[in-house]
Amino acid sequence: MSMQNPVFIPGPTNMPEVLRRACDLPTMDHRSTAFAEILHPVLAGVKQILKSSEAEVFIFPATGTAGWEAAITNTLSPGDKVLAARNGMFSHKWIDMCQRHGLEVQVIDVAWGDGLPVDTFAHILADDTQHQIKAVLATHNETATGVVSDISGVRQALDAANHPALFFVDGVSSIGSMPFEFDSWGVDIAVTGSQKGFMLPAGLAIIGVSPKAMAAIPTAGLARTFLDIRDMAAGYDASAYPYTPSVGLLNGLKLSCDMLLDEGLPQVFARHTRIADGVRAAVEAWGLQLCATSPDLYSNTVSAIRTPDGFDASRIVSHASERYGVAFGAGLGDVAGKVFRIGHLGMLTDVVALSGIATAEMCMVDLGLDISLGSGVAAAQDIYRTSAAPMALAAE
Ligand SMILES: *Cc1c(COP(=O)(O)O)cnc(C)c1O
Repeated sequence: MSMQNPVFIPGPTNMPEVLRRACDLPTMDHRSTAFAEILHPVLAGVKQILKSSEAEVFIFPATGTAGWEAAITNTLSPGDKVLAARNGMFSHKWIDMCQRHGLEVQVIDVAWGDGLPVDTFAHILADDTQHQIKAVLATHNETATGVVSDISGVRQALDAANHPALFFVDGVSSIGSMPFEFDSWGVDIAVTGSQKGFMLPAGLAIIGVSPKAMAAIPTAGLARTFLDIRDMAAGYDASAYPYTPSVGLLNGLKLSCDMLLDEGLPQVFARHTRIADGVRAAVEAWGLQLCATSPDLYSNTVSAIRTPDGFDASRIVSHASERYGVAFGAGLGDVAGKVFRIGHLGMLTDVVALSGIATAEMCMVDLGLDISLGSGVAAAQDIYRTSAAPMALAAE
C-alpha cells in the first residue's frame, strides 16, 4: 500500500505516473538516430511552450540555477553592468550569482511581497543614456513570496528608453503554468527547469535564447565551459550533445510538452488559476493575508501565506511533515518564519488541492491558531463547485 501523499511545495512538483515511466528508459546511445528523435521534438515543444517562433532552445543536464549561469556567462563580460530588482530569495540568488561572476549589479531593493517596480526600471533605463547597462534581469514569478511580476511592463520600460540591454527572465516557476510570452515580451533569454511546471524530476536546465542574445555570445568574456552555448549548438547540429545528456529526462520532457500542448496552454493556465483561486479563498476564510501585497501580484503557482505576528510559520511546515506526512514550503530569507507556502502548480486537481488546504487547516488548529476546521476547505469547495473543471489530467 502506498502511504505517499502529494507534495504542496512549489517544486519539485508531483509527477504524473506517465511522466515517471517516460523517464525510465534503457540505456541509449546518445549519438544514435533514436536520440535525435527525442531531442528535436523536445526543442520544438519547449519553443512552443515559450511562445516563440525564433528562440533557440538549449537544455543542460543541470537545474534552473545553471540556466541563470548559462544566461549571464554566455552573453556578458567581467565588469559589465546589469540591472535587477530584488523582491525575494530567487531574485536575490541570481543577483548574488552575478556579483560572484564579477558583474556590477545595480540592485533595486523592494519589499518582499512587492512586484518588480516597472517605473523604477523605466527611470533608470531612461537615465542610462550611455547604455552602460548590458542586461536587465527579471524574475517572473518570485517563488519565495508568491508574487508574479509584469514582464511585459519591464519590456516596455526598455523600449520606452530605446535601450539595447539584453532582457533575461527567470521563468522557473511560471513557464508551463502561467502565461509566458517569449516573443511578444521581447525576452532575450528565458530560464526554466524540469521539476516545476514540467512535472519531472529535477535535472534539466532549460533555456530559450533570442537571436539578439545568440549574437552576443561570441564576444562575451565571462568564462564558461560546461554551459557554453556554442558547444551545445554545435552538438545539436549533429543531433547530439557535447557530453552525455540525461536521455530519460529528455524523453520525459518530450511527453511533458505533449501533455501541456494537448491540454492546451490556455486550459493549463485556466486550471492553475482556478486551483489558486480556491487556495486564496481558503486563506481569506482563515483570516490570513498573502505575502503578495495586491491581487495583481498573486501568483497562480504558489501562495505564501503570512501567519499572525509572533507565530513562527515554520512550525506549520514541520508539523505537517511530522504529523501528516505532507510537505508545504517554508519561508525563505527575509520572510523566514513569517510565511508558509502552498505550492499549487503542475499535476494538481481541485480534489488534490482540497486535501492540501484541509491539511494546512488541521496543522494551524493543532498549533493553536484561531481558525475553524473546515472554513478554508468550504471556501475552496465553493470555488471548485461553481467553476468549470475540465478533467484534463485525469484523461492521461
Ligand atoms: C526553483 C527556482 C529556481 C532554482 O531552480 P533550481 O532548479 O532549484 O536550480 C530559480 N528561480 C525560481 C523562480 C525558482 O522557483
